[in-house]
Amino acid sequence: MPERKPGESLIKVILSGICRTDIEITRGYMNYTGIPGHEFTGVVEESDNSELIGKRVTGEINCPCGICAMCRINQGKHCFNRTTLGIFGRNGAFAEYLVLPDECLHIIPEHLSDEEAVFTEPLAAAFEITDSVHIKPTDEVLLIGAGKLGSLIAQVLKKTSCKLTVMAKHKNQSDFLKECGIDSVYPDQIPHGKIFDYAVESSGVPASFNLAIEHLRPRGTLIMKSTYHNNIKVNISALVVNEVRLIGSRCGPFAPALRALSDGSVKVKPLISDVYTLDEGLKAFEHAVKGAKGKVIIRNC
Ligand SMILES: [Zn+2]
Ligand SMILES: [Zn+2]
Repeated sequence: MPERKPGESLIKVILSGICRTDIEITRGYMNYTGIPGHEFTGVVEESDNSELIGKRVTGEINCPCGICAMCRINQGKHCFNRTTLGIFGRNGAFAEYLVLPDECLHIIPEHLSDEEAVFTEPLAAAFEITDSVHIKPTDEVLLIGAGKLGSLIAQVLKKTSCKLTVMAKHKNQSDFLKECGIDSVYPDQIPHGKIFDYAVESSGVPASFNLAIEHLRPRGTLIMKSTYHNNIKVNISALVVNEVRLIGSRCGPFAPALRALSDGSVKVKPLISDVYTLDEGLKAFEHAVKGAKGKVIIRNC
């Protein structure tokens, strides 16, 4: 049982989701050695805040110190002393229990299922894009990657009414996007020389970085949602010459993510591929590493 400090809640994990970051961690990303897992739903069993006890919650993964220079400018996600659930300095969600600061917790609306709510964290990461740049309805946007995160990003970008081109790799990805009213193309269907105002890289494939640059107009914006365990080879001069704006983007706001799941404007259910028990955790991981069709979920109870 993890130990709870004052201001933290003890949460019994109901569900957790395996994401690409977890797989990168098994390959050495962040040199992390604790329990991984950062996408979850659970029930608060112990807390100093009585309003949280018994509530079904999900949680933001960055736990700030509250006093450093970044915390003082309200950038707790970049706190110099932070721990990050299942990624850095704090055991994660592939366990029976986890501990998070109360301020990180969000109560899940009753009508939302555990399976849907487990997508709050990755969906929040998708909302970080529209939270940090103003994509106008007149903008042309290229999204590279229509996997689990990519298909959430596509649905968030669609809300801006921009002219969206999604580059998918597999038929099941384009089928799901079609269900969401979003057309997608395969890489060879984007005309040579076609340029966009924005490119979003969420494929996790290093070669996509240069592909994005190739299709970005001068002074365009490249938003990076992928992390790579290894360093990638990049033509930096192309960024300089074309005065490309490069935006690194990770965790985002939970409130709009929970709202979009609640009102059904973002669909996630078809993105679940398989559900395992916690005892079958290794099998679940193997499945995710081999390339599951959708999100692999671990259900504890
Ligand atoms: Zn993740
Ligand atoms: Zn701090």
